[in-house]
Amino acid sequence: MNPSRFIRSILVAACVALACGPPLAMCAAPSDPAALLEQADRIKTSNHADFVDLLRRLDADPTALSRPQQDQLQYFHAWEFAFQGDDAQAIKTLRSVAAHAADPDLRLRAQGSLVNVLVNATRYQEAYALLDGLLAALPGARDPMTRQRIFAQVTQLYIDSGQNDLALRYADRMLAEAQDDPMACQAQYYRMRVYSKLPGNTFETGYPAALARCVKAHEPLYTDSIRVFVAIRFLDQGHADAARAALEPYLQEARETGFVDLVEDVDATLARAAWAQGDAVTARAHALQVMRTGRNSFAVIVASKVLYEIAKAQGDTAAALAWHEKYAIADKGYTNDVSARALAYQMVHQQVQDKKAQIAALAQQNQVLTLKQSVSRKNMLVAWLGAALLLVVASSIALYAWRTKRSQLKFQKLARRDGLTEIHNRHYFIECAEAELAYCRKSMRSVSLVAIDLDHFKQINDTHGHAAGDQALKLAVAACSQHLRSVDVFGRMGGEEFNILLPDCVPEQAADIAGKMRAQIAALHGAKGGTAFPVTASFGVSAARWSGYDLAQLLAHADSALYQAKREGRDRVVVHGTASAVPGGPPVGIPERRLA
Ligand code: GH3
Ligand code: MG
Ligand code: MG
Repeated sequence: MNPSRFIRSILVAACVALACGPPLAMCAAPSDPAALLEQADRIKTSNHADFVDLLRRLDADPTALSRPQQDQLQYFHAWEFAFQGDDAQAIKTLRSVAAHAADPDLRLRAQGSLVNVLVNATRYQEAYALLDGLLAALPGARDPMTRQRIFAQVTQLYIDSGQNDLALRYADRMLAEAQDDPMACQAQYYRMRVYSKLPGNTFETGYPAALARCVKAHEPLYTDSIRVFVAIRFLDQGHADAARAALEPYLQEARETGFVDLVEDVDATLARAAWAQGDAVTARAHALQVMRTGRNSFAVIVASKVLYEIAKAQGDTAAALAWHEKYAIADKGYTNDVSARALAYQMVHQQVQDKKAQIAALAQQNQVLTLKQSVSRKNMLVAWLGAALLLVVASSIALYAWRTKRSQLKFQKLARRDGLTEIHNRHYFIECAEAELAYCRKSMRSVSLVAIDLDHFKQINDTHGHAAGDQALKLAVAACSQHLRSVDVFGRMGGEEFNILLPDCVPEQAADIAGKMRAQIAALHGAKGGTAFPVTASFGVSAARWSGYDLAQLLAHADSALYQAKREGRDRVVVHGTASAVPGGPPVGIPERRLA
C-alpha cells in the first residue's frame, strides 16, 4: 500500500482531528508527555516529519509515560507503520491496543483504524467481520469525536461494499450528531455520494444544501467532491455544458487541495464533458493530466476511455487500441475490487446470520428437552400447547432465514441488472462475457461479439423528450432479445450502447442475427406498441476468428466496425474482418447455431 492510499483512508480521522481547534505550539517541553502526545495527534496528517520526531522524543524515556500515555504512543506507532506501508506490523499493534488499552475511547479508535488498514490491505472479510464489534462498542464511547470518527469509518465501509441503505443510515446519524460545520459537511458529502448512485431525484433535491454546508465549513475537498457528483449527473443526462460550468471554475481550487484523488476526478469529469461537446483539445489535456498521476482507478477508467474515443475519431488506430487496452485493464481491476468488497460483505453477513440461526436452533432443542422431561410431571395438555408454541417459533425462524436469503438474492440481482432495460449492466456483462470466452477458448469454439449504438439518439431526446427516449431504449432491447438464445450475453454498456456476446457463432451468423435486429428496430416506427418517431441502430461485429478470445480486443474491433457503420451512414451492420484468421483462434468451419 502506498502512503497516499493510507492518507486517503485516514482523511476521515484527520478532518475530525483538525476540527478540534488550533494546533499547539511546536515546542512543547520534552518533560510534558501529555502535551507532546496531544501535539502528535494534531499534526500526524499535516506534518509527518515533526510527527516522527515527536515519537522519537517520546520513545526516549518510556518511564516518564503513564500507562494510558504508553497506550496512546503505541497507537501512534501503529499509525506510523501503516503510513510506511507495513500493514502486518500496523495490524498487530492495533490489535494489541484495541484489546488492552486502558482508555475505552482509544480502544475504539484502534478498532476503527484496524478496519481501515485491513481494507487497505484488501483483507475485506476480516475488516467486515470487525464491524459488528465496532458498532456494538459504539455506545461506550465517551468522546463525541470518537463516535463521529466511527460513524465516518462505518459509512465509508458500507459505501465501499455497495450497502447503500446502511451507509445512508450512518451518514444520517453522523449528520444528526455533528458537533460543527466541518463534521456536518463531511456527513453531507457521504450522503451525496450515496444519493448520486440512486435513481430518482434525491440527489437533485439534496445537493444544494450539502454544497452550502461545505462552502460554509471551508472544506474545499468535500465541496469540490460534491461538485464532481453534480457534473457527472449532468453528463449522464446529456447536459455537457452544465457539467462543465459546474466544475471548471473550481479546477484551481481543487488542485490547491493537493489531494490527488480529487484532482483526478475533476480532470476526468472535465475531459468527459469537453469530449461530449466535441472539444477534443481540452478533453485530451484533462485526460492526459489524469494519466500523469493515474492513482484513482475510477478517474483512470474515464480518462483512458476519452483518450481512446478521441484517438479513434481521429483515425489513429494504434493509439486507440493502446488506450482501449489501458481502459479495459483499469475497468476490470475496478470491477474486481468492487465485487470483492461486496462479496466479502455478503459472506460475513451470511456467516453472522448462520451463527444466529444456529444459536436459536440450539436454544430450541434445549427447550424441547426440558419440556419433554416435565411432561411426565406436569399436565400433558399444557406440555402439548408448549410444543405447539415452539413449533410456531421454529417456523418463524425458518421463515426469517428464508426471507434473509431471498433479500440477499434480490440484492445480488439488482447489483447485476440495468435498471431501465433489465438486461445485464456493464460490470456483470464483462464478468459473464469473460467467463464465457474462457470456456470457448478451452474448446476452441467459435464466438462473436456484436456492438450496438442507437443512431442520433441525442436528437431523439431533444425532439421527443427523455421519457420517449427511455421507451425507445426498452423497445430496442426487446427487439434484439427476440433473436437471442439463453446462452447469449446481452448487456447495456451505458447510455444507448449495448453489447452481445454470441457463443458458438461464426461472424457470418452473427452478422445475419445483427441484420435481423437492425431490421426489427427500424420497423418499430409506427408498429403497434412501437415508437411515434423513426429509430435506427448501427451494428459492429467482431469474432474470435480474427480477434482471438481476448474480450478487450473483441470489444475494440467491434467498436471500430460500429464506428465505420456510423461513418457510412448509420442503420447498418459492419463486420470487422482481416484477410486471415489469427493463430490460436477457432477453426473456420460453420458450426450449427443451436437455438434456445
Ligand atoms: P450517434 O448516431 O453518433 O450515436 O449519435 P447519438 O446522438 O446517438 O450519440 P451521442 O453519444 O452524442 O448521444 C447519446 C445520447 O444518449 C446522449 C444522451 O442524452 C442519451 N442518453 C444516454 N442515456 C440515456 C438514457 O438512459 N435515457 C435516455 N432517454 N437518453 C439517454
Ligand atoms: Mg453512443
Ligand atoms: Mg448513438
